[in-house]
Amino acid sequence: MNNAGVINYPTGRFIRETKSTGRGSDYFGNCEICGKHMSECFISRLSRERKRASDGSLYLDKSQPVIFAHEICISQVASSDPVY
Ligand SMILES: [Zn+2]
Repeated sequence: MNNAGVINYPTGRFIRETKSTGRGSDYFGNCEICGKHMSECFISRLSRERKRASDGSLYLDKSQPVIFAHEICISQVASSDPVY
């Protein structure tokens, strides 16, 4: 093994990815934030950006849980995301 010193590290930046699922509460259940019915469910995850020590390339650490919620509820959560 020759990986001494090759450690991927966080850049301190967080990136939130949000997208529509195209389906609603019939499929996903109620909003995880407000608990109400959703006609359209969005999924969102806040990921920590990390840099590979080997070549300096960036990638997202997707270990954080995904939330299923209204777009408006996600935007409220996003307003308290860490600021880079
Ligand atoms: Zn909601």
